Amino acid sequence: MSVIGIDLGNESCYVAVAKAGGIETIANDYSLRSTPLCVAFSGKNRILGVAAKNQQVTNLKNTVYGLKRLLGRKFRDPHVQRELQMLPFNIIEVANGNIGIKVQYLNEEHIFSPEQCLAMLLTKLKDISIAALQTPINDCVISVPSYFTNNERKAVLDAAAIAGLNVLRLFNETTATALSYGIYKQDLPAPEEKPRNVVFVDCGHSSLQVSACAFHKGKLRMITTTADPNLGGRDFDHILADHFCKEFLSKYKIDAKSNPRAYLRLLAEVEKLKKQMSANSTSLPLNIECFMNDKDVRGEIKRSDMEVMCAPLFQRVEHTLRNCLEQSELSIDDIYAVEIVGGSSRIPAIKQLIEKIFKKVPSTTLNQDEAVSRGCALQCAMLSPAVRVRDFSVTDVQAFPVSVYWEASGEGDMGGNVEIFPAKHAVPFSKLLTFYRNEPFAVKACYSSNVPYPDKHIGTWIIKDVRPNAEGKAQKVKVKVRLNLHGIMSISSASMYEAKNSPESDVADEQQNQNANGQNDASAEQQQKNGPGGETPDGDTAMDAAASQPEEGDKEKKKKNVLKSVELPIESLTYGFSQVELNQYTEQECKMIAADRQEKERADARNALEEYVYELRGKLSSDGELSEFVAENDRVGLVQQLDHMENWLYEEGEECNRQVYSDKLQELKSKGEPIQNRRIEAELRPLVFEDFGKSL
Ligand code: ATP
Ligand code: MG
Repeated sequence: MSVIGIDLGNESCYVAVAKAGGIETIANDYSLRSTPLCVAFSGKNRILGVAAKNQQVTNLKNTVYGLKRLLGRKFRDPHVQRELQMLPFNIIEVANGNIGIKVQYLNEEHIFSPEQCLAMLLTKLKDISIAALQTPINDCVISVPSYFTNNERKAVLDAAAIAGLNVLRLFNETTATALSYGIYKQDLPAPEEKPRNVVFVDCGHSSLQVSACAFHKGKLRMITTTADPNLGGRDFDHILADHFCKEFLSKYKIDAKSNPRAYLRLLAEVEKLKKQMSANSTSLPLNIECFMNDKDVRGEIKRSDMEVMCAPLFQRVEHTLRNCLEQSELSIDDIYAVEIVGGSSRIPAIKQLIEKIFKKVPSTTLNQDEAVSRGCALQCAMLSPAVRVRDFSVTDVQAFPVSVYWEASGEGDMGGNVEIFPAKHAVPFSKLLTFYRNEPFAVKACYSSNVPYPDKHIGTWIIKDVRPNAEGKAQKVKVKVRLNLHGIMSISSASMYEAKNSPESDVADEQQNQNANGQNDASAEQQQKNGPGGETPDGDTAMDAAASQPEEGDKEKKKKNVLKSVELPIESLTYGFSQVELNQYTEQECKMIAADRQEKERADARNALEEYVYELRGKLSSDGELSEFVAENDRVGLVQQLDHMENWLYEEGEECNRQVYSDKLQELKSKGEPIQNRRIEAELRPLVFEDFGKSL
C-alpha cells in the first residue's frame, strides 16, 4: 500500500509518493510529471488527463476543465456566472440550483456534476499511481486553496469518495508548501527561541495565495493566510488575448472573440508568449497560421507592454502581499525569507513587487511546481501507518471567521450568536457550547463579515431528542463545534446531561464522553453569556453562563456525580452529497471505469490486428524476409487475404468487439506463424551444428 499526495491545480495536477528513500513525483502515462485537470467525453469512452487536453480543440463542447472553480457552488452564484463566460462547454442549472455539466457521451446526452467530473480525474490520477507504483492506492492527502470554504472542501471530499480515495487530510496549498520547506531544514530555532518566519507566495493558474508561517524545530504554525481567489496566470492570458483580438480586428477584420476555437488557440499562443516574456524583455513575435477565415495573423509584444496592460492585476498582487504582511503582524525584519512557488510567480513584475514589499529577493529554494504535491505526500505519510517519516507538527489557520447562531427557546431566551472561530484561528480545533433546553433546537453556522463569498451560510444542525427533566425543566446540552483536519466546520456531537434515574439506555459517564471527544485536537470550553446581559431565566439560558462563575462551577462539579450524558442524534443540513447519492455516483463511476476498460481492450485488440496485418504483409512482400519460406502461390494468397483484412478494418470492421479482432488475429497467426517458424529454424540450423561440433 502506497500513500500519495495530490496537488489539485486548476490547470495541472501533480502526484507525489512518500517512499522510504524520500518523496518522488509520479510521471503519468505520457511520462509527464503534470496531468491537466481535464476530462473529455466521446462516443466510445471518457478521455482523461493529458489525452483530454490534447483533443480539446477538436472536441470543445465535450472537454471539461476549470473544475476547481465550480466546486461547492450554485449555478447562479456570480462567481460561477463569471467562470461560465470563460468556458466553452455547456453548463446548466439543475435541481436545487446546482451546477450540471452537459456533454455528449456514448452518443447520448449526459449531465454530470462538477464533483463527478473531478472524481473522473481523480480516478485517472489513482490509476497513474497504481501503474507507476504497482501497489494498491487508498490513502491520500489532497491540496485545496486556503481560501476554500466548507462547501468547496466537502465537494473535493465527495469527489474523492466517488473515486474510491480515502482522504486523510485536505491540506491547504501554502501549508503543504511550508511543510516541504520545513521538513528538511536542519537549522530551525529551538522551542524557546524566536521562530523563523517565512512567507510563502503561490501564484498559480487561477488564484494567488500568500501565507506567513512560523517555524521551530519539528513544527510549523501558520500565522495567517490571505488570497486573491480570482487572480492567476489565466487572467494575464486573457488580457493579452484581448489585446491581440482588438489588433486583429482592425488589422485583419477578423473577430477572434466570435469563434471559441480560434480564441482558445490564441489563448494558448499568448500563454507561450507570456512565458517567454518572463525570461526575455525584448520584443517577441506572435505568428498563427490559418487563424480564422484562412488568414495568417502576426503581432508582437514586449514585456514592458504587457506590464502596462496588466497593471490592474499587479496592483491586486501588491494589495494581497501587503494584506498578508499586515495580518501577520510581523515586521519586515522578523521575516527570514519569502519563498515563491506556482507557475505565475515566475513573472518578473510579481517578483519585483515581492521585493518591494518584503525588502527581500524572493527565494526559489523549493521546486516551484511540485512543492505542494510533495508537502501533501509528506503529510499523508505522517498520517498513515503504512510509511514511516520524520514527524513534523502542523498547525494550520482558518482563513475566514465562523459564527454560530442559535434560535430562541420560547421561554425568555432570545437566541444568540458567537464568533466561535475568529479569522486566523488554529485548525484543527474543537469547542463546546453549553445550552439549557427542553426540546430539540437548531444551531446555524455562517462565515462572519468580510468573506468574499455571496453565500455565507455553512449549515444548520438540528439537535434532536432533547426533552425536559422529570420536573419539566430544561436540561443541560453540550454541543461540540469542530473544525476538523480538513478545515471543515461542523457540529460533530451533542450530549444531554440528565439525572441518573431517568430511563435511558445508551448512557455514558460525562467524564468518559469528554475524553472520547478530546482526542488529538486542542479542545476548549467556550463559555459565553447568552444574549445581552445573559439575563434569561434560570435553567433556560442558551449558553452556560454558570460555568464562567466559580461558585456555580463548584455546584456543577457536585451535580456531575449524579448526571449521566446521553448522546443526542443530530440532523445536519449542509452542502454535499448524502451517502445514498455517493453510493449511486460511486457505482456509476465504477461502471464508467469498466466501460472505459472494455473500450481500451477493444481498441488494443483492433490495433494488435492492424499491426499484425502490416507487419506480416511487409515481411511477405516479394523481397521481404519471409518470402523464401513460403510457396509463391500461398504467399500471393496470404498477401491478398491481408489486403482484404486491412480494408475490412477500415470499413465494416471498424467497430467490432474485442473477440472478433482477436479471433481474426488468431486466424492470421495460424497462417503466418508456421512461415515465421520455418525462417527461425533455418537460421538456427547452422548454429546447432556448430555447437554440436564444438562439444564433440
Ligand atoms: P492553481 O494553483 O491556481 O489552482 P495550478 O496549480 O494548476 O493552478 P500552476 O501550475 O502553479 O497552476 O501555474 C500555472 C500558471 O503559471 C499558468 O497560467 C502558466 O501560464 C503560468 N506560468 C508557468 N510558467 C510561467 C512563466 N515562466 N512565466 C509566466 N507564467 C508562467
Ligand atoms: Mg497550484
